Amino acid sequence: MSVEQREFQAEVKQLLDLMIHSLYSNKEVFLRELISNASDAIDKVRFEGVTKPELLPSGEFEIQLRADPEARTLSVSDNGIGMNRDDVVTNLGTLAKSGTGEFLAKLKEAGTQGDAPELIGQFGVGFYAAFMVADQISVLTRKAGEAEGVLWKSDGGGAYSLEEAERDGAGTTVTLHLKPSDAEDGLEDFTDEWVLRQTVKKYSDFVAYPIRLEVVRPPGEDTDAEEKEEPSNEPLNSMKAIWTRPESEVEEAEYNEFYKHISHDFSEPLLRVLSKMEGNFEARSLLYIPSKAPFDLYHREMAHKGIQLYVRRVFIMDECKDLVPDYLRFVRGVVDAEDVTLNVSREMLQQDRQIQAIRKYLVKKVLDELKTLKKDEEEKYLSFWAEFGPVVKEGLLVWDEKNKDRILDLVLARSTHDESKLTSLAEYVERMNDDQEDIYYMVGTSYDALKNSPHLEAFKEKGIEVLLFADPVDEVWLQQMPPQFKEKNFKSAGRGEVDLDKGEEGEEKDEPESKKDQEQFGDLISALGSALEASAKEVRLSKRLTSSPACLVLEEGQLSPQLEAMLRQAGQDVPENKPILEINAEHPLLAKLQEIFEADANDPRVVTYAELLFGQAQLAEGGQLADPAAFSKKLADVMLEAL
Ligand code: ADP
Ligand code: MG
Repeated sequence: MSVEQREFQAEVKQLLDLMIHSLYSNKEVFLRELISNASDAIDKVRFEGVTKPELLPSGEFEIQLRADPEARTLSVSDNGIGMNRDDVVTNLGTLAKSGTGEFLAKLKEAGTQGDAPELIGQFGVGFYAAFMVADQISVLTRKAGEAEGVLWKSDGGGAYSLEEAERDGAGTTVTLHLKPSDAEDGLEDFTDEWVLRQTVKKYSDFVAYPIRLEVVRPPGEDTDAEEKEEPSNEPLNSMKAIWTRPESEVEEAEYNEFYKHISHDFSEPLLRVLSKMEGNFEARSLLYIPSKAPFDLYHREMAHKGIQLYVRRVFIMDECKDLVPDYLRFVRGVVDAEDVTLNVSREMLQQDRQIQAIRKYLVKKVLDELKTLKKDEEEKYLSFWAEFGPVVKEGLLVWDEKNKDRILDLVLARSTHDESKLTSLAEYVERMNDDQEDIYYMVGTSYDALKNSPHLEAFKEKGIEVLLFADPVDEVWLQQMPPQFKEKNFKSAGRGEVDLDKGEEGEEKDEPESKKDQEQFGDLISALGSALEASAKEVRLSKRLTSSPACLVLEEGQLSPQLEAMLRQAGQDVPENKPILEINAEHPLLAKLQEIFEADANDPRVVTYAELLFGQAQLAEGGQLADPAAFSKKLADVMLEAL
């Protein structure tokens, strides 16, 4: 039988290198990972077995640990789904998760700065964690329903070997040849019964299948050992469904380990939500919010891991996406329902009335808990918002009136009121001037570009607060489908006409002045308009500028340049979408231009200045020039002339 040698994918090599040089001090977690994989594998065969009973093992589901202190080996065996050759190559030779490359780049950078262990924790290295404690690993596995087994071996260097192999029954046995133990380096003796018991209890007590331990004793010891201890077949784990136990009896550490087991996360969760749904439908749920966004949160297809579904304590499926909407895709946990049909298929699940009811309940529950967190634990909430805020705001794009208000309650934003901190919408509304009708906001590509935006000048001068939004999703919920908040409309400070004097005492007081400006500059403005015909929809005098000479404005509902670019990139036809150029009548530049224009209406400088004004307005809002080279040249010419 031939043995095939293969190279690991480059990313795996890098990761293994990092693991072996042991950045991660908590090495015992390797056992949790192997048990977790065994448990996942049993879950899978159990799910498949609903429709294909021939795949199920003949005996009871179980996870078997076998330690041999003499040989210094430890194996973890399961009778789960197993793997065939292709599965092994994909699962144990590559890192399939999208975004892995970016992650490793970050890790490399962090390696030099000592943040690497934390990053490893965020990434979750799973199976490869075993190379922290082993210098040689073999995996003997056979896929349920297939006759051939396969043996995978590696020492964690650049390569692994593959060969055909016999295995009794389907399942997987991972055998580690352990490195010498080294207490100082967190490397305990993982062939020691006591160490193994402790580790399983600590990390895997709730695993739903029995985890049994067999310690191989050297032949000579047999006679004594018989007296001392009958080899016991008792599982090391209690297997109790943690969500059914009274909260007061479960230690926080147990909840945290359960979270790590189901989420494949290595860090502690930020928030835990245990709840019981009563009434027509009954269900219990134990949900968690991670403390860090998974690195693939925005890789859509990967990120919505969903929630585990149980029915009456029996595991039904992993990654049930129907239990929470996409905008809560970072929520992890289990739901244990009373009445869902046990053999319901994934496709039918969505229509199941109980699933729909549970989903509705969970969404409300999670949003309410977040609201409480926001009220009671500001610090934690801020970190939640920093990690997941942009995802939560995606919830404002779905048609769900009831929860829209709940989500708006959770929104935090930068504001011109206090640059040093985030504000809630409710706080904004409380601070609104008596005569202010709308909630003013600006959307842009970065907070820094926004806070100095010329569009805000008049707002700042008049003491009107503007919210500043810079996440890509803000663009869409605020401009394409603006909701109301406490019966107030959202109004963009950068769009349409603003008239901040409206409603103030001497109502029309600004009127004569702007009329005067209009009369004075009217002809010049139309000349600028014709000069810019190709790029601006209109040139007009501004009511929002006080110190900058000009700015670009969009009409309400008009596509922003960013969104326009996105649509074009997606191959969509975008109708002509020119901005309006607003000019500040108070700026000395305009008076000078007027002089030139009055002396000679055809002075070519009028056109040049119009183009420069337009270009610098584009730059001021962080936009891109259509022809940067032409702009620079014009600018240089003008500078030269002025010198
Ligand atoms: P994760 O569990 O997060 O997917 P791992 O690195 O722990 O990542 O495992 C990688 C993959 O290898 C698993 O997704 C699974 O497909 C496969 N695998 C690992 N252990 C087993 C096992 N005991 N039985 C079957 N498949 C396994
Ligand atoms: Mg795993």
